[in-house]
Amino acid sequence: MWVRGIRDGERCGCGQPFGSCPFWQQVGQSAFGGWDQVDVDRITRLRAQVDRARFLPLLASASARGVASRDRFQPALDEYVDYYRRTYSAIEAVSGRPVVIDSSKHASLAFCLRNSPGLDLRVVHMVRDSRAVAYSWSKVVQRPEAAAESQMPTYPAASAAMRWNLQNSALQVLSGLGTPTLRVRYEDFVLAPAATLGRIAAFAGLPGGPEFGFLGTDEPGRWWADLGVTHTASGNRMRFTTGRIPIRHDHAWQTAMLASKRRTVTTLTLPLLVRYGYLRGAS
Ligand SMILES: [Zn+2]
Repeated sequence: MWVRGIRDGERCGCGQPFGSCPFWQQVGQSAFGGWDQVDVDRITRLRAQVDRARFLPLLASASARGVASRDRFQPALDEYVDYYRRTYSAIEAVSGRPVVIDSSKHASLAFCLRNSPGLDLRVVHMVRDSRAVAYSWSKVVQRPEAAAESQMPTYPAASAAMRWNLQNSALQVLSGLGTPTLRVRYEDFVLAPAATLGRIAAFAGLPGGPEFGFLGTDEPGRWWADLGVTHTASGNRMRFTTGRIPIRHDHAWQTAMLASKRRTVTTLTLPLLVRYGYLRGAS
């Protein structure tokens, strides 16, 4: 949001440039007195100082003030996290909703936020078969929200496998450190979307039994979702899609991925593939 939304003016999920979207205008006003009051360069500098995978060991250590490295680290972390706290509070106030979902995916941000006073952080750890992730990361995909020509990053198979290992291992450590974490498999979600969202809603502490009126089935097992306009600041290009879409398991990798690449990813990610139940049956 900071760079692509505020600085670059990329499109919100509603189709408006970020700065023209009424929802985000209100959020910026409420959080900072307007987005023009936010120093995005400052935030990107702070991010480089604290919100990186290489700082995970430091972020995982207890707030050991007195440790020299921690003494330099902590003020930058506090300032960085404050930008998020103010943004989340403003989203809560403007939307009138009880839960704010940050759909960003890097484990390091969750580690940054984990000890913030006033934040009730709960992490949904969404996993997907590493071979499917590596296949997806090998494809060249345009980013439709960008004004200029821009593509999603791609990674070679081994690199994708190591990224998958890092992010998933980190979120397991986060859970071990006491942050409430719910692990959900993408493959289970597409088979049973309502049941899976029900688990997530309960985990988020939403009161009562939530009704998912936007989900339905044409026949048993064939689910669809009715998507309205959303104000998502960045993310998967599907966020621009509205109307009724089928929810289907994307199996493309099983036939389209080169066997050699598949073997590489299977080997490199074997321990967590087993742990998450992906190697029952054929691999
Ligand atoms: Zn919008």
